[in-house]
Amino acid sequence: MGAYLMNNYGNRTLSLVKGDGRYVWDSEGRRYLDALTGIAVCGLGHSHPAVSKTIAEQAATLSHVSNYFRIPQQEALAEKLCSESGMEKVFFSNSGAEANEAAIKLTRLYAREKGISKPTVVVMENCFHGRTMATLSATWGAKVRQGFDPLVEKFVHVPFNDVDAVADLASDESVVAVMVEPVQGEAGINIPAADYLQKLRNVCDNNDWLLVFDEIQTGNGRSGEYFAATLAGVKPDILTTAKGLGNGVPIGACLARGIAADLFGPGSHGSTYGGNPLVCAAANTVFDVIKEEQLALRATQLGEKLNAGFSSGLANCHAVKEVRNMGLLMAIEMNRECSELYGQAIEAGLLINIAGGNRIRLLPALNTTDPEADELLDKLCSLVNNWANTAVNE
Ligand code: PLP
Repeated sequence: MGAYLMNNYGNRTLSLVKGDGRYVWDSEGRRYLDALTGIAVCGLGHSHPAVSKTIAEQAATLSHVSNYFRIPQQEALAEKLCSESGMEKVFFSNSGAEANEAAIKLTRLYAREKGISKPTVVVMENCFHGRTMATLSATWGAKVRQGFDPLVEKFVHVPFNDVDAVADLASDESVVAVMVEPVQGEAGINIPAADYLQKLRNVCDNNDWLLVFDEIQTGNGRSGEYFAATLAGVKPDILTTAKGLGNGVPIGACLARGIAADLFGPGSHGSTYGGNPLVCAAANTVFDVIKEEQLALRATQLGEKLNAGFSSGLANCHAVKEVRNMGLLMAIEMNRECSELYGQAIEAGLLINIAGGNRIRLLPALNTTDPEADELLDKLCSLVNNWANTAVNE
């Protein structure tokens, strides 16, 4: 099975063939409650009727034309994203990594304007920004980078949630930007202090550095606001997003304002597919549904419900170190490795993710109903409690 596929995803056993709302089905007809949503992508759940209708209609009308032409769906989506975020201009890509590539290229152009030939971008320990050469060079950790030397130069890592570590670089004249995830997603939902992003904004302002928010995972309603930047009351100079933007169609976006918004000129960047009519039509509908159904608010409510439910359901489980969330970016951190819970959850009809070896990461759909949230709580609490007891008794 999959003999002609490269081995970069390792051994995959489960074959999912259908999705509807918060559930997916495998090829044997077994149903799973999806608390992973394709890694924070299907915020509206699977096969959302309005999104499916838009995709079908747009596919039957015009899927692709290239960026040699005006694309009304792209213009409409850019306007929505800018008015939502306070940013001014948008470049559309096909993925999160490419949105970050665009952001990194903007920091290079900014450096040229400042006469800095070898610019440094400050990034965070435990960050994840993607798997292209520049974004994997920005990303923390050997796992992503191993074997890919020479890396793209001049990303400096400092501890996350440590403003002083960033401010200490003020004497380094090569620094031009600070790039940060408002909540570190792949690392296992690391939530910084409430004033961290504002303090980073201040440091950037004091030093003429661009502030770049990677909202590829936190964006599109998941944090409890459409963008986590709004939640923090901070405007970055560049904001990237992807994942939940298209609910499953491949689209990413790099938003910018001020000087950063005008750094690309004709021919300086591009993408054949980026922001084509098909993906932008879908993303427009996704955006409208998130706004009309107030799904960012729903993410806040559900996050609170789930946090309270896990905190009480796992209160006597000694293996649980912490339950934490921002909206529907949620983690249950264990005091030890818990990878086997992934397979046990599948057995129980539940899709979850284990991040960093010892964190259950949950990224449920924003429109999860209360009964579905209760099912998630019941199934996962009993799994975790059993797992902890069995491991102790072994
Ligand atoms: N940035 C963040 C914060 C992410 O979580 C991810 C993906 O997990 C990426 C960038 C890369 O996005 P993609 O896989 O769409 O290239």
